[in-house]
Amino acid sequence: MRTLVTGGTRGIGAAVALRLAADGHDLVLGYARDESAAAATQAQCRDLGVDCSTVRADLTSDAGIDRLFTAAGRLTGVVNNAGATLHLGRLADTTPDVVRATIDLNLTAAVLVARAAVLAMAPSRGGDGGVLVNISSGAATLGSPGEYVQYAAAKAGVDALTLGLAQEVAGDGIRVVGVAPGIIDTTIHADAGEPGRVERVGPLVPLGRAGQVEEVAAAVAWLMSGEASYVTGTTLRLAGGR
Ligand code: NDP
Repeated sequence: MRTLVTGGTRGIGAAVALRLAADGHDLVLGYARDESAAAATQAQCRDLGVDCSTVRADLTSDAGIDRLFTAAGRLTGVVNNAGATLHLGRLADTTPDVVRATIDLNLTAAVLVARAAVLAMAPSRGGDGGVLVNISSGAATLGSPGEYVQYAAAKAGVDALTLGLAQEVAGDGIRVVGVAPGIIDTTIHADAGEPGRVERVGPLVPLGRAGQVEEVAAAVAWLMSGEASYVTGTTLRLAGGR
């Protein structure tokens, strides 16, 4: 098993990488800027006894996606995880460049990574078959009014990607599945401008707390495993009942 995790060096992606390493996956971890997080996660994965390389590549450029998949080589799994909310506020108060950047990263880049994953894994294209996991968000069905409707719209597009691409490649050795987390304790919220968001929103969730990255990683690992061999075209919600 050889799996690429985009945004695999911090937050949910890093937890997915560690969990997949424990399950015996060799790994390629993509990231954008944070060299020290990349080095730390790579070292932790190698300590678990698997091969792990990191590739710095901005997925909002075609060249970045090409570089990542060229460096990755043969793959049997792709976790399409890199994303960011970027900004908190009402749509009318969000600048057009932020709206475009949000959709570019969370939808356009995700679709192009999925395209590259099919080219890398489909037996009809010389690949070995595999599993693509798209990381969506509970926002896709909640809409996130007042916070980031453009991000929610992009993630709803990711759910449609999972549904359609799964049917397109089901006969070509690839399962396509999604995971839609609710609020998860990572720095994505502080990076968008609200460091206390987990503490504010967590208690409002029916289960009474934010989720942990390991809880998302466990779902991704199961979906990638042979135990989920009859699961495709669906998105598993992990949102504490919300
Ligand atoms: P983090 O901010 O913790 O990590 C994001 C990762 O994506 C980092 O490795 C980052 O690299 C990478 N990344 C960001 N932009 C780019 C880019 N342009 N090109 C390549 N890589 C990039 O995010 P989370 O772990 O919280 O989120 C992971 C996924 O889960 C996202 O798709 C997010 O939308 C989704 N999600 C998160 C939720 C949450 O509450 N945390 C809830 C629902 C969904 P670098 O370290 O170099 O910046």
